[in-house]
Amino acid sequence: MKNIVKKYGDGFPAVNDISIDVADGEFVILVGPSGCGKSTLLRMIVGLEDITSGDMMIGDRRVNDLAPRERNLAMVFQNYALYPHLTVYENIAFPLRLAKADDATVDEKVRAASKTLELDEHLDRKPANLSGGQRQRVAMGRAIVRDADAFLFDEPLSNLDAKLRGQMRSEISRLQKKLGITTVYVTHDQTEAMTLGDRVAVLKRGILQQLATPRELYSNPGNLFVAGFIGSPPMNFLPATVEGTSVELPFGSVEIPADKAEKAAGRGLLIAGIRPEAFEDASVVEESKRASGSTFKATVEVVEWLGSEAFGYIPFEAPPEVQEQLQQLERDLDGETLRTQLVISLDAASKVSEGDEAEIWVDTATMHLFDPSTGENLT
Ligand code: ATP
Repeated sequence: MKNIVKKYGDGFPAVNDISIDVADGEFVILVGPSGCGKSTLLRMIVGLEDITSGDMMIGDRRVNDLAPRERNLAMVFQNYALYPHLTVYENIAFPLRLAKADDATVDEKVRAASKTLELDEHLDRKPANLSGGQRQRVAMGRAIVRDADAFLFDEPLSNLDAKLRGQMRSEISRLQKKLGITTVYVTHDQTEAMTLGDRVAVLKRGILQQLATPRELYSNPGNLFVAGFIGSPPMNFLPATVEGTSVELPFGSVEIPADKAEKAAGRGLLIAGIRPEAFEDASVVEESKRASGSTFKATVEVVEWLGSEAFGYIPFEAPPEVQEQLQQLERDLDGETLRTQLVISLDAASKVSEGDEAEIWVDTATMHLFDPSTGENLT
């Protein structure tokens, strides 16, 4: 995708100058909140939507003006689009029958694909008698027999319950690696994006915010939006003023590494981003580790136990100077409570309970500092 733009009528572009280079065999995820333009972008790749400007290339072919079937891509839809009255065999064979392939070719390709997909024992069944995972594989089988150059998925798991979604996620990941086929996958779910993608493109209002590996997005988010979108529970955002190597936060002052402090020097009020897992009940932090962070005292209002881990909630109020920016971020991220509470992780060994004033340790080395007006990550 080179400088791809999509305008519907005269409005703000649904896709605004996006360039993404997907490598052969790579799994790239397009993720972002509703309306960010991810489906539009996918539909332009497949050819279901006209491209306003820019170049859509597959290999060295410019495909802007090619019809969907001339692009040799296979789209796997949310409901898998299987034919209920046809057997698994005939569902997989469907594109070959359409192309008037002879019976011997059909048989060879269907059997090879169903072997790869471990469907060879179910070829006589109808879709109604298959599990969700098997149906997904039939849909992929249909794409495989066509020898498509790439798979495109549009929110294939969004209708499933959480457990099945988890299973299907690992299934898709496993098959994609096994087949080594280039894949572009659309989702609004950051967990799905982080667990499936070799690289993830985060979109907001038609604009590409960051394109990076899941690890990179998590540890080095380019701006406030990406920082807030990636990670669950989300990153905490706190007003911060940097003086030398100390950062003044609502809970007191903490020390940060000199290289970070340097990048944020002389900038007035900033927004500090700290992930919940960078906090801990100070009483369970080892002495050697304690020195690498800072501690402060706060009242933990709510403790949420999840078995192997827990989260503590500490109320606070963001000052007026950053209210507007955080409010906008809440709208962008669909209603998080960024301005009113700090979320901290607590080790299973922690004895902190609701209402306790506790000493909290924070690993300041992982703190980010954002420019409140541009949202840019300065560190
Ligand atoms: P969702 O997850 O809700 O499907 P999305 O990120 O996939 O959202 P798109 O469906 O690509 O977003 O839509 C991007 C923007 O383009 C939205 O503001 C949407 O309202 C607008 N849009 C999409 N299709 C059309 C259309 N046919 N005509 C006019 N505007 C459209």
